[in-house]
Amino acid sequence: MPSLHVLIVEDDTRLARLVMRGLEQHGMTSTVVGTGEAALETLATTHVDLVLLDLGLPGVDGHEVTRRLRQRLETPIVVVSARTDEADKVLALESGADDYVSKPFSTRELVARVRAHVRRSRGQVTATKPEVRYGGFVIDPARLTVSIDERPVRLTAGEFAVLYALASRPGRVVGRERLLELARGSTEESFDRSIDVTIFRIRQKLEQEPERPRWLRTVRGAGYVFAPPGDDE
Ligand code: CA
Repeated sequence: MPSLHVLIVEDDTRLARLVMRGLEQHGMTSTVVGTGEAALETLATTHVDLVLLDLGLPGVDGHEVTRRLRQRLETPIVVVSARTDEADKVLALESGADDYVSKPFSTRELVARVRAHVRRSRGQVTATKPEVRYGGFVIDPARLTVSIDERPVRLTAGEFAVLYALASRPGRVVGRERLLELARGSTEESFDRSIDVTIFRIRQKLEQEPERPRWLRTVRGAGYVFAPPGDDE
């Protein structure tokens, strides 16, 4: 899984630091803010994989923050609170939180929950993507399969994500950075190798003449473009 970025919304700076360190020890990065308003501002400009939200915040109440976040984003929200009565938990979940963790909590449990929610939300993103089809060339994101005239082509999750990002934007040149971003958003597989290596591998599996690709073309100095099968026939 690529490094997860978590937004910690917590006015208790000591506790916030503790959580931050705990997440770091498990390979995650985080941003800490002390109010709901600051959280909303941060989320408007920064991508985060999950929000850890304290209910007892100065200013706008945590439940209200949850509601406002949920209206704008589908990012998983895990509420962390010292309030233990059932009504608070129910209200948090009804406001749009995905989970509720009571203070005090163990870092291990928190990390496990964070991972589970991110995994689930990413899975949903993948599952709702539409199939891409050009004649006998079919890319099915629900099953992570590609087939050409009913011949299945086996790709890794990373290769699939790159191919899907390009094939769902036929004829559009996508730069390497953007491609990496798009692919990362839809798979937990880390891209430790360059995008060029991934493209090379997809071509080996997909193209009849990988060294003279028909579908996955290089646009020198700009990136890659998917030329739909049948376009040049
Ligand atoms: Ca608090």
